[in-house]
Amino acid sequence: MNINTLNLNSKVPKGPIMDKWRNHKSTLKLVSPNNRNNIEIIVIGTGLSGGSASATLSELGYKIKAFFYQDSPRRAHSVAAQGGINAAKNYKGDNDSVYQLFKDTIKGGDYRSREENVYRLSEISSNIIDQCVAQGVPFARDYSGYLETRSFGGTKVSRTFYAKGQTGQQLLLACYSAMSRQIVKGRIQIFNRHEMLDLVVLDGFARGIIARNLITGEIEKHSAHAVVIASGGYGNVFFLSTNAMGSNASAIWKVHKKGGLFANPCFTQIHPTCIPIHGNYQSKLTLMSESLRNDGRIWVPKKLEDATLIRNSKKNPEDIEEKDRDYFLERRYPSFGNLVPRDVASRAAKERCDKGFGIENNETKEGVFLDFSNSINKYGIEKYKEFGKYDPTIIEIQKLGKKVIESKYGNLFHMYERITDNNPYNTPMKIYPAVHYTMGGLWVDYNLMSSIPGCFVIGEANFSDHGANRLGASALMQGLADGNFILPYTIADYISKYFIGKKEKYNDILQSKEFFYTEKIVKDTLKKIIHNNGKTPVDFFHKELGKIMWEYVGMSRNNNGLLKSIKYIREIRNEFWKDVYVPKSIGNGLNTELEKAIRVADYLEIGELMAMDALNRKESCGSHFREEYKTIDGEALRDDDNYKYVSTWKYIDNKSIKDEILYKEDLIYTFAKVQSRTYK
Ligand SMILES: Cc1cc2nc3c(=O)[nH]c(=O)nc-3n(C[C@H](O)[C@H](O)[C@H](O)COP(=O)(O)OP(=O)(O)OC[C@H]3O[C@@H](n4cnc5c(N)ncnc54)[C@H](O)[C@@H]3O)c2cc1C
Repeated sequence: MNINTLNLNSKVPKGPIMDKWRNHKSTLKLVSPNNRNNIEIIVIGTGLSGGSASATLSELGYKIKAFFYQDSPRRAHSVAAQGGINAAKNYKGDNDSVYQLFKDTIKGGDYRSREENVYRLSEISSNIIDQCVAQGVPFARDYSGYLETRSFGGTKVSRTFYAKGQTGQQLLLACYSAMSRQIVKGRIQIFNRHEMLDLVVLDGFARGIIARNLITGEIEKHSAHAVVIASGGYGNVFFLSTNAMGSNASAIWKVHKKGGLFANPCFTQIHPTCIPIHGNYQSKLTLMSESLRNDGRIWVPKKLEDATLIRNSKKNPEDIEEKDRDYFLERRYPSFGNLVPRDVASRAAKERCDKGFGIENNETKEGVFLDFSNSINKYGIEKYKEFGKYDPTIIEIQKLGKKVIESKYGNLFHMYERITDNNPYNTPMKIYPAVHYTMGGLWVDYNLMSSIPGCFVIGEANFSDHGANRLGASALMQGLADGNFILPYTIADYISKYFIGKKEKYNDILQSKEFFYTEKIVKDTLKKIIHNNGKTPVDFFHKELGKIMWEYVGMSRNNNGLLKSIKYIREIRNEFWKDVYVPKSIGNGLNTELEKAIRVADYLEIGELMAMDALNRKESCGSHFREEYKTIDGEALRDDDNYKYVSTWKYIDNKSIKDEILYKEDLIYTFAKVQSRTYK
């Protein structure tokens, strides 16, 4: 590992934090409406970040080429988001504000994010809700007609706007409607079932991509004045995760290999409320939204023998008396209770299961209960009183209480029952932490531009706002802030500087040698995979990698484990290139095995970088928990003196991952008071 110093220019504007974004916007250059029609922008991804960027930029008059591998933009992974989206509107009158949202977010990220970005995000949050309401998003409303909110982990206010348990779906439908308006006008050209396989950099500027048509297999060249990467996160490196099966790291990884710095690769969020793993043949984990922690209490039995009886189906959770239950989050963190941030809740569940109190009858005996019985009773009694009735029976209370719970989380309960065949209204859900979100990603400056000029990165694909840990309901907020309210201004500044009033050097960019060269590299790699004549299917390598990542680079890490993981990943990678088997051909129709192989080849490299980054960070912060660095209570122990920086990695052409160079962006806090993080 090489460590070097480089003055990374984050382009954060000067002045008081409250004025930075407003002042910066007023100095950004503009592109006049009649020039916008001549500007083409490629957007990779149509999730909430890419979809909102495409819709807003085309509405402004730019020509957009939107690429995505699904059949419709509506199927991007953002559709899966369940719990909600944050905004500091103080609708509940609980004293929420831009400052409170900023403070919670920066503390939640364990002071490992750029404070100016976080402040901007908090400022913009309210505009997002206004825009979504105008677009017709059916957010939940309270009795008086105001938008309803609920709480998520790491906050003491109620600022999460939601549409039942399907917020992402409703937001994406609104975003897709906005896109559709421009698709019919021809301002957005969509390339569905297309995968970006490389970035083309011309004279140091991002000017296009090489893509594969996944239906025909054809390799295509596409040029533009700027490229926006909105390709989502890389959690699927772990094989098992809550991410959509198709989510992958290829677009960001290719940008990285073309010179884009990769920031904080080791920051992976583990979500505490997923359905526990069941068996070896599973390829996906299902999230039970964090919003459930508003009404669900997390516990395990106090006695080891009870845990064993439950695992062996000899006792039901309902049979464990209140005094024999350990509500371990409420016990350890009385101030936040079940609403501690995800990293804290996940580690606490692991600690109980490591001690033998896990309740799920799976190979690892890992699982804890998420119990709604208290809330069902509470809501039932309240409803009964509302109806002016007294002396209800338990059955009557529960019937009414369950109705309230159903109105809030009905689709999530239904989904849980379909998957597990257990009715969570009657018996507690079983949950366990799983890989969920990646806070790392391509490094971007304040303008959301990567270290390659002309290549912008938004949404989960960039590293920007969440530091070492993302608070719930903040990813949708960031994606829409980036796509609707930041990128459209900052990309105009770039375009105006480099293209407006300047003569284009090339008559036809697609004929430049860089396009041919990059296309050749892509084709050669595909040929190498196809003609490998190996015997082992792609999934085998992906699963092996996933096991190593989870064991050594997962919820907690240590020096020896990380060294081992690096060694094992290299071995699997060598084996992959020797023995992977991919049937059929490259250019002749659909080949899903080839798609997977390209993605797994990239995971096998990024996995190593994640482990290297984790090894370098000799502290515990947020979801990066190094076992060597903890307090006597077992909490994460940060080292601000030595590690208060964004780690950014540079790939060196034609060298291996181990030769990447680490540069540091020091994090300087002038507004936030850096404190140790406690939720006790
Ligand atoms: C189960 C689940 C629930 C969640 N719930 C919440 C929640 O309640 N609140 C919240 O704030 N966040 C939530 N999140 C996180 C949030 O959903 C995501 O972080 C966010 O939607 C990511 O949006 P995005 O636009 O960055 O990327 P995505 O929505 O992942 O979209 C990626 C796009 O990029 C395209 N793409 C990727 N690679 C390529 C390529 N090489 N070539 C072409 N196209 C490519 C895909 O086709 C897709 O269109 C949840 C996540 C999960 C997994």
